Amino acid sequence: MSMITVNCHEVEPILHELMIYVADQVAAVPFIKFHKFILTPIMDDESVNGDDVISSIKEFLDSIGEKHNYAVILNGDTITIKSIHGKQIERKKQPQSQLFSCAHCGHVTPYEVEHNNHVKIHYL
Ligand SMILES: [Zn+2]
Repeated sequence: MSMITVNCHEVEPILHELMIYVADQVAAVPFIKFHKFILTPIMDDESVNGDDVISSIKEFLDSIGEKHNYAVILNGDTITIKSIHGKQIERKKQPQSQLFSCAHCGHVTPYEVEHNNHVKIHYL
């Protein structure tokens, strides 16, 4: 299986929102890891399409009026969102927590394993 890592170091205030949006668009299971999120395929024999992820990230940036301020660069299986003008994104910070929330129904759990099992029910 092939996963895509999205490096959000320069857009950290929107990391969580962006992750939920993109995961839903490309039907992948997301994990947050430091300043990044990782998109994994629902099924082991599938792979996450980098071009789909890029389109989806651009759509999201467009929706918050930031598309022209950021470049979305694919390198291998890593996508980096880079500020073009060094402008900081202004977005209300999400509360800090270790919760995993389902992109499909909003189910929330602090347990990654439970979350993964939960998300699968939407694809049965
Ligand atoms: Zn759910």
